[in-house]
Amino acid sequence: MSRNPHYIKMINSSRWRLLRAKKLRSSPICEVCEANGLSTLATEVHHKTPVESVAHELGMRQLMFDYSNLQSLCHACHSEMHRRAFSHSKESIQANNKRATQRFVDNFLNGEE
Ligand SMILES: [Zn+2]
Ligand SMILES: [Zn+2]
Repeated sequence: MSRNPHYIKMINSSRWRLLRAKKLRSSPICEVCEANGLSTLATEVHHKTPVESVAHELGMRQLMFDYSNLQSLCHACHSEMHRRAFSHSKESIQANNKRATQRFVDNFLNGEE
């Protein structure tokens, strides 16, 4: 993911590991899935405002360790979140739409309930 040395240092720190564990303990269900009426176990913690949206180390540190900036997500929702946030090209938007359609079809065919 990120190659920023400050980011790498923080993401590997015990402070982050503890905060992440605390977040997953208090919100063990993926917040996006939950909003869609699903109960998927969250395995990843996302920063709502990306840590790297600021350039200086102090700002990054504040975003990284701000508990209210965290979101518990499952792997699928986390990947989707980053695809959406970081892909703005026409092709990727079309690809996202295609994926969303496919997901709808899959859900429909799998017939929840
Ligand atoms: Zn999810
Ligand atoms: Zn993330």
